[in-house]
Amino acid sequence: MNSFSEAWNIICNYLKDKITDVAFDTWISRIEPVSLDFEKGQTRLLVPSEFHRETLQRCYMPLLNEAFSTVFGTTFEICLILPEEDEDKEEEKNNNTPTSIYEYTFQNFIVGSSNTFAHAAAMAVAANPANAYNPLMMYGSSGLGKTHLLYAIGNEIKKNDPDKKIQYVKGDDFMNELIESIGNNTTAEFRQKYRQADVLLVDDVQFIAGRDRTQEEFFHTFNTLYEARKQIVLTSDRPPKEIKILDDRLRSRFEWGLLADLQPPDIETRIAIIKKKANILELPLTNEQAEYIANKIKSNVRQLEGVVKKLNARYLLNNEKINQIVIAEVISDILNNEAPPEHTVEKIIEEVARTFGVDPEDIRSQKSRRANINHPRHIAIYISRELTDLSMVAIGEAFGNRHYSTIVYTIQQMEKKMQTNTKLKETVEDIIKNIRDR
Ligand code: ADP
Ligand code: MG
Repeated sequence: MNSFSEAWNIICNYLKDKITDVAFDTWISRIEPVSLDFEKGQTRLLVPSEFHRETLQRCYMPLLNEAFSTVFGTTFEICLILPEEDEDKEEEKNNNTPTSIYEYTFQNFIVGSSNTFAHAAAMAVAANPANAYNPLMMYGSSGLGKTHLLYAIGNEIKKNDPDKKIQYVKGDDFMNELIESIGNNTTAEFRQKYRQADVLLVDDVQFIAGRDRTQEEFFHTFNTLYEARKQIVLTSDRPPKEIKILDDRLRSRFEWGLLADLQPPDIETRIAIIKKKANILELPLTNEQAEYIANKIKSNVRQLEGVVKKLNARYLLNNEKINQIVIAEVISDILNNEAPPEHTVEKIIEEVARTFGVDPEDIRSQKSRRANINHPRHIAIYISRELTDLSMVAIGEAFGNRHYSTIVYTIQQMEKKMQTNTKLKETVEDIIKNIRDR
């Protein structure tokens, strides 16, 4: 781990305070810091796709500039590069300090009883694409290693056969790209991109549920690849039968192959994970210290990893010796940071807008009274009442200064409709689940 990765964490923390969690997770969290050259005054950041790069350029450049100059006290020219433009990649691979997605290999994955099955299934698929299980769907709560295994499959297949076209996409990006391509009249290219893959890896596929056009498109992509005997691997935070608003045709296809779940790791696995991560970073940690951390953090590998990374940052940046006090501080930081987020009306509106493919501003505003906006707006109002402690008056204010009586009426109507309309009820439940998981 180089010091730029550490500094990047600090930049990320800075950015986190400035933008919504959704925006952060979608656009910032998947940037990989590549290099920082003080002499040239240039930094190179790796982004996953052209679409990602364009969005960053369009919407986030001033903020990125601000973050760099705040953290380093000087400005940098920010170059956003795609994986194929990354000259240092080969070098990095040979160097045994793995960074980010290159870290996501089978070798770096610790196997314990909680994940043996998913790990074995992933290995089988990687060894024998399209001939072992197709599709493979791995599911489990956040931070248990789904994305890691998904990338590990991609990395392993690529290692065995560099000519194989591996296409990775997150469920919500698939949707965003589709919408973008419809706007730009480039749906043909969009289709081509996904339908010519040898291996399609779809992370968090639950996010395509509910949207008709997206599901339709994904259905055809799935069929094309499946019939051509190409491997499809999916991850989700829940098994297909619990994704209520998923199209039945897709649900049955997701269940065609193998479903493999990931459970929270047991204590031995947690200790092993902490030691391995510390080892990679060359962070000196005693057995007692590893055990102490494993006893405090029980259900999420991402948090375990967060503790090790944060300890390492303090160790490197402040030259701090690792002791019980520092460890306890870092653990409490991580646990507090990752406490269930407070649900804001803003986030609720964003998620509802995403589900229905409408502009959040239209949901909020008084002006837009189009019928296709009323439905998502009523849902957003209802969910705001469910998930926040706000009064009806405050909810009314958040929705373009509507009178509280309108809010009361809307909620009553929603409650009534949901009693008889199962589809509506399930849509609301799914959206609530998505908001909670973000
Ligand atoms: P998910 O996609 O299920 O939310 P991730 O795959 O992103 O979880 O995992 C969160 C972090 O924990 C990643 O950095 C990953 O490398 C790490 N991780 C999860 N499980 C393991 C494991 N069994 N061994 C090593 N690292 C793991
Ligand atoms: Mg993931």
